[in-house]
Formats: sequence, structure tokens, C-alpha cells
Amino acid sequence: ARMSIGVDVGGTKIAVGVLVGDELQEFHTQPTPESGWAAVLDAIAGQVRQLQAKYPQARTVGLGIPGPITPDRKRVKFAPNIYGFTDVPVVEGLYERLGQHVSLENDAKAAALAEAELGAARASSSSVYITVSTGIGSGIVLNGRLWRGQHGIAGELGHVVSVPGGPISGAGQAGTLEAVASGTAIARDASYALNREVSTAEAFALAQSGDRIAGRVVRGAMQRIGLAIADLQKMLDPEVFVLGGGVASVGAYFFEHVQAAADEAAEGFAVPVIRPAQLGSHAGVIGAALSAVLEPA
Ligand code: BGC
Repeated sequence: ARMSIGVDVGGTKIAVGVLVGDELQEFHTQPTPESGWAAVLDAIAGQVRQLQAKYPQARTVGLGIPGPITPDRKRVKFAPNIYGFTDVPVVEGLYERLGQHVSLENDAKAAALAEAELGAARASSSSVYITVSTGIGSGIVLNGRLWRGQHGIAGELGHVVSVPGGPISGAGQAGTLEAVASGTAIARDASYALNREVSTAEAFALAQSGDRIAGRVVRGAMQRIGLAIADLQKMLDPEVFVLGGGVASVGAYFFEHVQAAADEAAEGFAVPVIRPAQLGSHAGVIGAALSAVLEPA
């Protein structure tokens, strides 16, 4: 059976695991160090060493990073939601620490591959996976393969403008989808509107229990995600959209509103098929491990 280590770096945590065949055998998380990229690479190397001590045959290692990577897949251009992660030579840095090559992938592209191979888009040859969490990202799978684009940035959905002149994102642009509809944006807007500190989960809970102000905030975000899906339907016309990430895990309430907004905006063209991700919080790790095997850098 194939054996591959996957590492998924997020704004708040680093998750690791070993993919044995189609099964994830270990799943561990630790907080993402906040003292810069060298500390993040140290933490990744430490996790990989621990897994390799237990699984000596697991020589293939894949790493997902929440930001665009260079087309040669050696460096991270920037990770908008991790402080200090700009132009980082990740592959070289990990070679120095581990003495082996690590295959680099964008986090959303990794998760897209995982859902396309083993999850909600298993039966489809074209799919778009969208993660709505701290940031917003996506991965496009066409004919069973990831579409990376000429510069490696294909699928950077979080940085598509949704509200011209809107709030500034972590990447420094105004009114992008991530700046108006990510978990970060929802918590920010709900806190402002309700005049107290409100988390994304709380904003959804309040909205679902009838709070009108929270309802306006979360419905606004869900509508913009639905509109983006309708745009993608017209542009790429994939068989299925798979939605994952912390915000999508809200469940039925989220999917009903996103689908309604998408349907309205796509009316007359094609009704977008939208499904929840199946691999949940494991998608990133499974995808990083799979990417190193199926689409090695
Ligand atoms: C990054 C993407 C990433 C997404 C989700 C965005 O800010 O630009 O590359 O996939 O966040 O982590």
C-alpha cells in the first residue's frame, strides 16, 4: 500500500498524518508557531521526524501551505493569514532540516485533490473545492488533475473582488471575497455590528436563533460565496462544487443559503451542484500526502 506523510499548515494549527493506502493512520495537531517562518519549518520537521520514527517506510512527504506557491513549487509567495510568511524557500528550508525532499502544495489545492480522489467529488472528473475558513481558497480539478495555471495561482478565489472598495484583506486588497466572507470577516463584522467580541461560530448560532443583526452579517457572507460559485459555474462549469473549511462545517443552514444565492445568480445557465466536503478536518493532510504521490513537485 502507498505510504505518504501529509502536513497541513494553517493560520492557527499544523496538522500531520500518515496516509496508508486510502486510510489516514495518524492525525496530530499542534499550534502554528507565531515567531516567524523558520520556527514553522522547525515545527514541521519535528512532526515529520516523529512520524518517520514510527513509520520508517513513509519516505514520501507532502506539505500544504495556505498561500500561493511559485510555479516550480519550491517557494511560498506569501501566506496572507500567517504573519511573516512572505517569499519563503520552504523546500530548501525543509531539505536542510530533514535531509529529504518535501513536495509543496497549496492547502486548498491539496484538499481539492483529496476530495476528488477519496471524498465528495470521487465520482466526478471535474470539481471545484472551496474552503471557507480563516481565509478562502479553492482548488480546481479538471479531468482528474489539478489545474494550477500559468503562474501557479489558479483557484485563488479568496482574492477575487466581491465588493469593490470594501474592507482590506490580509493580502492588502480591497473588498476581496476573503475580506468580506471568510470566517475572519464574519467575526469582524458581527463583533462590530453587535458591539462585542463575537466568534464566527457564535455569529452563526445567533443568526440561526433569530438574531437579526447577526443574521444580516452571515447572510451577506453566504450570499457572496453563492455569487462566486455562480460565477465559477459560468466560467468553468464543473460537475460539482465541494465546500469545506470551518465555516462550511456550520452545516445545512450554510448550504441552504449558499445554494439559494448561487441558484438565483446562475439562473438560466445551469444549477450549480454544491456538496459538503466529506473528509472534514482531514482533507488538508490527506491531500498533502496524496499530492506528493499523485502530483509530486
Ligand atoms: C490563500 C490561499 C489559501 C486560502 C485558504 C488564502 O488567503 O491565498 O492560497 O488556499 O487562504 O487557506
